[in-house]
Amino acid sequence: MSLLVVGSVAYDGIETPFGSIDRILGGSATYISITSSYFTESINLVGVVGKDFRDEEIEFLKSRNIDLTGLQIDKSGDTFFWKGKYHFDLNNRDTLDTQLNVFEHFDPIIPEDYKNARYVALGNIEPGLQSKVLEQIDNPDFVVMDTMNFWIEGALESLKKTLKRVNMLVINDSEARELADEPNLMKAAEIVLGMGPEALIIKKGEHGALLFTQDGIFSAPAYPVVDIFDPTGAGDSFLGGLLGWLAYTDDRSAENMRRAVIFGSVMASFCVEKFGPDRFKTLTEKEVFERYRAFISLSQIPELG
Ligand code: AMP
Repeated sequence: MSLLVVGSVAYDGIETPFGSIDRILGGSATYISITSSYFTESINLVGVVGKDFRDEEIEFLKSRNIDLTGLQIDKSGDTFFWKGKYHFDLNNRDTLDTQLNVFEHFDPIIPEDYKNARYVALGNIEPGLQSKVLEQIDNPDFVVMDTMNFWIEGALESLKKTLKRVNMLVINDSEARELADEPNLMKAAEIVLGMGPEALIIKKGEHGALLFTQDGIFSAPAYPVVDIFDPTGAGDSFLGGLLGWLAYTDDRSAENMRRAVIFGSVMASFCVEKFGPDRFKTLTEKEVFERYRAFISLSQIPELG
């Protein structure tokens, strides 16, 4: 099934306890597209980059079969730049710099050929723009959105309007608490589901993720990665793996939703093994499915004898 991905395409500067890099490909739409490309063949990316965006990034995205008709190249400025620094425990990061550049005036125009997308990923952008994307799409089957504290604090009303139009929200635990204004995560989930989406995923970093639907709660572990190097993009890779699997199978049953959450965790676990999206330059489909199987044995709880 065709998958439309809208979000940021960026250059990132990253500092982790293991090393740093001044400039590497990043952005929410980048990670979502790359990771979903392991599952579904028709991925259409909508975003904007500036005059400094290198051909080698375009080649890499094309090598993953990502259609770039919707990637605007705005020669009037540079690509969105974000710089982050991770702390010793890697779960916390500080944003050191955000230069919106051409992203400041990003107007997501959906090409005619993309308007019949069945699955849609709304990466982390201003919630009004996320709604604007949905207004241009015919009648999608399943829309997943991401957001962040910045919009919860600065554009709450707009965010609530967008939430009414999506099927699933994927956020981390602190964002869920903030959005619901409720410290208890279970109660927060109930409040957020009351805002519109029929499904909610709460990511808990290296402690896994929770899926909330009307069928109940599913708790997925995180893969115990030995070679964790750079967490940038893990959240978006989770979303890409999850939605890529759903788009490929076109099956939104409770059981398949659980598989999708695990494929999200699989892609996030690979993402953190190298700087930026570098791990995906060598990752094979075989490794993806092997890790899914490793998840099965990792979390198998024996029946009571
Ligand atoms: P994640 O680690 O999955 O939460 O996402 C990391 C990516 O988000 C990086 O590659 C950044 O380029 C991108 N990013 C950071 N801040 C923003 C922002 N304000 N809007 C859109 N994308 C952002």
